Amino acid sequence: MNKISDFSKSFRDSHLVRGLVDEIKRITTQNWVMMEICGGQTHAIMQYGLDQLLPEQIELVHGPGCPVCVTPLDQIDRGHAIASLPEVIFCSFGDMLRVPGSEVDLFTLRARGAQIRVVYSPLDAVKIAQENPDKQIVFFAIGFETTVPANAASVLQAKALGLKNYSILVSQVTVPPAMHAILSSPQNRVQAFLAAGHVCAIMGYWEYHPIADQYKIPIVVTGFEPLDLLQGILLSIRQLEKNEHFVENAYTRAVTESGNQVAQKTIQQVFEPCDRNWRGIGRIPQSGLGLRKEYAFYDAEKRFQVGHIQTREHEVCIAGEILQGLKKPFDCPAFGKQCNPTKPLGAPMVSSEGACNAYFRFSKSTIS
Ligand code: SF4
Repeated sequence: MNKISDFSKSFRDSHLVRGLVDEIKRITTQNWVMMEICGGQTHAIMQYGLDQLLPEQIELVHGPGCPVCVTPLDQIDRGHAIASLPEVIFCSFGDMLRVPGSEVDLFTLRARGAQIRVVYSPLDAVKIAQENPDKQIVFFAIGFETTVPANAASVLQAKALGLKNYSILVSQVTVPPAMHAILSSPQNRVQAFLAAGHVCAIMGYWEYHPIADQYKIPIVVTGFEPLDLLQGILLSIRQLEKNEHFVENAYTRAVTESGNQVAQKTIQQVFEPCDRNWRGIGRIPQSGLGLRKEYAFYDAEKRFQVGHIQTREHEVCIAGEILQGLKKPFDCPAFGKQCNPTKPLGAPMVSSEGACNAYFRFSKSTIS
């Protein structure tokens, strides 16, 4: 048994889990709805059956925290158009390959001859650009604040190396504007947020204080193991039951209030806030991070004129309502029938961080 798995296991201790569940049950006196905005947390909740251990007054809804799921269809189609160009080697994280665009997915394009490579980091794509000077290398830069520093580093690295054949197709988003959008919706049901621990490890949690104040809502920075998640839920319920609303950190082993300032500076050097479409939700003002003017040379959208994109979502997919916490995957008529992980109709069933995928894989799990 190695030390890392021992360390992880200590956050899955069933006796401690039971103790936290008992305390949550003891203090819960009424119905509460809380949302996690992280696909990794959604998966852990479903994998360990934490939702089934909680008192029935607590409803967990799953927010737009899966990077693959929120990447808008027009940007996916744009990626497909660029990947189809003969001079391009298109690099992407593996999860994006099976995400359906309006017509096809990247796997299908690769089978038809497009040069598409799975990479684990945008810096791998920069290396491919060095090794293939006669090709244009495009990295599909999707994701939240967690992946943005590496995307920024790849642009800085390409610039330092003088590479003219590297660019990124940008579809990066940030969490706080999505929280604003959810909380200001007339249909909102969310009464507390579990903030994603890895996002906060980069950005800190200083940005969340005004949100907690404005909407009078508890926000608890939460990790990914069963004990982390139950601790986050317990602290949220404590605040809700006392009618309190502030930002609390339940993931102190990884997160500080100010976050990783080197990473934040790298982000700010290369990117700036911009409006961005979220798949299933629509346009959220200032929710994206686009390339600054000084780095526009590395913008694949500008480099490749892929023309007007007309998108077509699958008509039965209710991913947008799921991502806003209005519905659960079980409410989708296609769930587990027309739509399953081998034949996904929407991004939340494709991605390993998608809520529909988590429900399909783990809906019968409980921790033992
Ligand atoms: S089950 Fe499939 S079709 Fe239904 S919301 Fe999820 S991804 Fe969309």
